[in-house]
Amino acid sequence: MTTRSVSPNACGHCGIDQHGHAQQWTTEAGWHTWTPPAQGQIKQRMRARTAKEN
Ligand SMILES: [Zn+2]
Repeated sequence: MTTRSVSPNACGHCGIDQHGHAQQWTTEAGWHTWTPPAQGQIKQRMRARTAKEN
């Protein structure tokens, strides 16, 4: 458990949890507040999580 996995419901732009987000900058989105991830993004993250656990 050394790698931090992105939680499925983290920001759609940068992957930071809503709890600790405030304002963040990414090259794609620029300055932004927490944005809900797309449905497909959530699924993808859940799959990545499951793959890591196995
Ligand atoms: Zn973000």
